[in-house]
Amino acid sequence: MTQRRFIIGGNWKMNTDLETGMALASQVADAASASEACDVVIYPPFPYLQAIDSVISNSPVTLGAQNIWPESHGAFTGEVSCDMLKELGVASVLVGHSERRHVLLESDPLIAKKVDFAINREFQVVLCVGETLEQREMGSTLEIVLGQVQSGLESVNHDSMKNIVIAYEPVWAIGTGKTASAEDAQAVHSAIRGELASRYDDDVASLTRIQYGGSVKPENAKELFACPDIDGALVGGAALSGESFAAIIEAAC
Ligand code: PEP
Repeated sequence: MTQRRFIIGGNWKMNTDLETGMALASQVADAASASEACDVVIYPPFPYLQAIDSVISNSPVTLGAQNIWPESHGAFTGEVSCDMLKELGVASVLVGHSERRHVLLESDPLIAKKVDFAINREFQVVLCVGETLEQREMGSTLEIVLGQVQSGLESVNHDSMKNIVIAYEPVWAIGTGKTASAEDAQAVHSAIRGELASRYDDDVASLTRIQYGGSVKPENAKELFACPDIDGALVGGAALSGESFAAIIEAAC
């Protein structure tokens, strides 16, 4: 029997304002309190983290950040350090999200450095990986995804893997309304688990949670969550509605 607890993340990206963000956080807190059988994490925009922490602090919801810079302090204009985020109550960080890879042009070495830095500061790190449509059509999905897993986990040792979550998010499915079929997603999740078994061991492979992300909504969540290697979802658009996100949490718990 699997010992993996489902994990549902809500990536708000650069959305909401302070008032709507606080109201949404309150709805998420209610939904998470009603279904305590899975972990729920939200990733609001940086400026709202402190206010949102005050809304969720008495609930099971974990506060997450969408990005970090891998240095403790210094001349890095516009960036935010792990220590600053810790002070605000952040416990989970996204690294390597497709928008950071493809819009902000973050490289594999920078992503590996961010993973290393955040893991050493005892954050939960959600390493996001995924192929573009062109790469999928060329038949390179596994080569790309497993390459991103290998590179992102370069400096992560066996013991630190307990703080890693992997999010498989095909780039062509993010924000497009297109979802990978449950079968296609399961095939990639299973290959990622195989990679973890050969890189670490069977325990790490069977305990590491692998979320699916890419246009997850209440209508497709149940089918995805029924797959043996899918341990929850990282949700963008549907996380901006308290009702939709609550329905996805309910589908997982
Ligand atoms: C995401 O931002 O990680 C994501 C999966 O977005 P969406 O659910 O909107 O596709």
